[in-house]
Amino acid sequence: MSALPKTMKCLTKAEAKKGAWLEERPLPKIEPDEVLIKIERTAICGTDMHIYKWDDWAANNVPTGLIFGHEYSGYVAAIGSTVRRVKVGDKVTGEGHVVGNRSRNARAGRFHLDPDTKGIGVNLPGAFAEYMALPEFNVIPLNDKLPLEIGAILDPLGNAVHTALSFDLVGEDVLITGAGPIGIMAAAVAEEAGARRVVLTDVNDWRLEFASKVAPQTRMVNVANEKLWDVMHEIGMNEGFDVGLEMSGAEPAFNQMIEHMLMGGNIAMLGIPAKPYPVDWGKIVGKALTVRGIYGRQMYETWYKMLALLDSGLDVSNMITHRFPARDFQAAFDLMETGKSGKVILDWNEI
Ligand code: NAD
Ligand code: ZN
Repeated sequence: MSALPKTMKCLTKAEAKKGAWLEERPLPKIEPDEVLIKIERTAICGTDMHIYKWDDWAANNVPTGLIFGHEYSGYVAAIGSTVRRVKVGDKVTGEGHVVGNRSRNARAGRFHLDPDTKGIGVNLPGAFAEYMALPEFNVIPLNDKLPLEIGAILDPLGNAVHTALSFDLVGEDVLITGAGPIGIMAAAVAEEAGARRVVLTDVNDWRLEFASKVAPQTRMVNVANEKLWDVMHEIGMNEGFDVGLEMSGAEPAFNQMIEHMLMGGNIAMLGIPAKPYPVDWGKIVGKALTVRGIYGRQMYETWYKMLALLDSGLDVSNMITHRFPARDFQAAFDLMETGKSGKVILDWNEI
């Protein structure tokens, strides 16, 4: 193990406006219960684009000067004095929600429901950097066979796995609204988990066409020019979907989902609406639907299930469409802004 450098390169929000700034900063200092990770690959998330563009949400939630980024993989470069679970050289990624130990939920082991949670790359220094510090508790060791770039997209895959596995999918007909990266990966998970029919909707043809490369058994529907009822009849469905996964945050998508659910069906809702919208609650009551809000992923059961699914054949490698040296970060953000990409990877050995 070579000696650690004193400084590192990183991407920050140096100024409260659109952009990302390449800076040189001291290496993070680790506490006794923390691990220093040498970042190898990062992926760019929708949340990073909010921070990059500095929209209202970012301006209200993210401190200026922050190193952002939270989807990553790397190797352990150093460990604090009390760390026992990992060692220098291990291939790792990490859970991005850093929880407290005071709330009722945290004390009960429901870590993902802790209201004192802080987010790596949102409130805490993130992964768009050569090195990052992380509590040992959050570190996830990765199988040697798992490619580093897949390790860098496990954060959004975790959202997809947690949402998709919220309800029993075996033999069920599943409607997923929103073919963003998470909706697309949820379709792949639903196929792998034994759903009978999977239908994925969007209003963007490029996304739906791309989605077919990741979830080939799924019926893609552009709801702007195809009627969902027609598609359902075409694929032999007469009643409605058993399970709905809302992954767009769009009002028309949720209302369309309610309309097309089977009586007594279950809806898991991950999409975050940009603002409050009206919902026909009478239909939810009349159809006896269950609607469950989904936040993040389950610590650490979702990680276990996700790694097991990958081990047993789940393939999301086609989700990655572009790779850039980290020094070309501007080209990567520009590409993300066009919306015509799957996951975009930065290589931090080339900074
Ligand atoms: P994304 O914004 O890339 O994808 C959303 C997709 O929905 C887009 O492709 C868009 O064209 C599509 N869409 C818009 N209107 C539609 C309609 N009427 N019908 C069907 N599709 C429609 O998002 P993503 O990164 O894949 O994330 C999915 C959602 O999950 C977002 O709302 C995001 O904010 C949210 N999210 C929530 C959590 C959580 O913890 N709850 C975590 C991560 C992301
Ligand atoms: Zn993310």
